[in-house]
Amino acid sequence: METRIRPIDESSLAEAKAILENGGVVAFPTETVYGLGGDARSDEAVDTIYRVKGRPADNPLIVHVHREYDLKTLICDEQPYAAKLRSRFLPGPLTLVYRSRGKVSAKVSCGLDTLAVRVPSHPGAQRFLRCVDMPIAAPSANVSKHVSPVTAEHVYTDLQGRIPLILDGGACIGGIESTVCDVTGDIPVVLREGLISREQIADVVGRCELYVPVAGAQVRSPGMKYKHYAPACKTYLFAADAVEEAVQKFCSCEEEGAKVFALCENSVSRRFPADRVLNLGDTGEEMAARLYALLRRGEQVADVIVAVRPRGEDGIMAGVQNRLGKACAGE
Ligand code: AMP
Ligand code: MG
Repeated sequence: METRIRPIDESSLAEAKAILENGGVVAFPTETVYGLGGDARSDEAVDTIYRVKGRPADNPLIVHVHREYDLKTLICDEQPYAAKLRSRFLPGPLTLVYRSRGKVSAKVSCGLDTLAVRVPSHPGAQRFLRCVDMPIAAPSANVSKHVSPVTAEHVYTDLQGRIPLILDGGACIGGIESTVCDVTGDIPVVLREGLISREQIADVVGRCELYVPVAGAQVRSPGMKYKHYAPACKTYLFAADAVEEAVQKFCSCEEEGAKVFALCENSVSRRFPADRVLNLGDTGEEMAARLYALLRRGEQVADVIVAVRPRGEDGIMAGVQNRLGKACAGE
C-alpha cells in the first residue's frame, strides 16, 4: 500500500472521508500527538487500528469528536462537575471517561462499560472531524510501544505501507498525550497525566485524585500498564540530583566506543559536549513539546541516550516525568 502525506485541504479531507466510510484508517494531527483514526462504530475499522499499530487488544481507544458533536448520543448522563470541566478545557488536551451508551463498537473500549471521549483543539483536527462527522476512534499513530509521533514524518516512519493517508498539520504544539480523567464517580480521577494538570482540574472542581493501580485489582486504565514511548536505542535515566553520575555514564559509554547523547533540561546541558545534547529547554511546556521529537532524533543519531530528569513534578511536569520514565523504563 502506498502511504501519502497530504496537507489538509478540501481534496485531502474528501479522500480521508471516503477511506473512513469504507472502514479504512487515516492519520491526522492533534494538539497533542498524531492520531490513527477510524470509524468508532465499525468493528472492521477498529480491528484495523489495532492491527496496524500492533496494539494489545486490551488497551482501549479514545473517541474523538468535533466541538459541535452531540456527546449525549455517545455517553450516559454526566456529573455536573464533568460539564464544568468540558466548558473550561474543551476543545483541548483533556480526555474524559464516561459511562458509555454502547453506540460505538464494543472493541473501542475492550468490553469496558465506559467510553473515553476527547474534543481536540487543533484546527486541522477540528476540520477533519467536522468533515467526516463521525466518532473517530484514535490512538497515537505510531507502532505500539514506540515513541508517539509529533510530525507527519514520524507517522510515515512507523506506518509507511500500512495506511493510505497521513493528513499533515505540521508539528504538534502540545507534544505529549492528553490527560485521561475518569468522570464516572463523585470526584474526577486522573488515570493518565498529561497536558492538563491535576491542579488545573482541582481548581475547577475543587478536588481531583490520581489513580494509583492496586496490585491484584482490575486496572482502570489498561494502557498504563504497558511499556511505552520507547526509542530504539539504549537509554539510561538519572534523577535530577544525579548529574555527576550521568556525566560519568556518558563518559564511560563513550570510552566503550558508543555514540552517546545527553537528554536534559537546558540548565544541565552545559555539563555535556554541546554537539551531543538533546535539549529539553527550560519550561514545562517546552519540555512536553520537545520530548518525543528529541527521543526520535536520539534513536537516529545515538547508540545510547543518557537522560537526566528535569526538575519539577507538578503541573505539566507530572506528564513529562511520566513519559520520560516510560521511555527509559528499566534502565
Ligand atoms: P493512546 O490512545 O495510545 O494515547 O492511549 C489511550 C489511553 O486512554 C490509554 O492509557 C487507555 O488505557 C486510556 N483509555 C481509553 N479508553 C479508556 C476507558 N474506557 N477507560 C479507561 N481508560 C481508557
Ligand atoms: Mg499511544
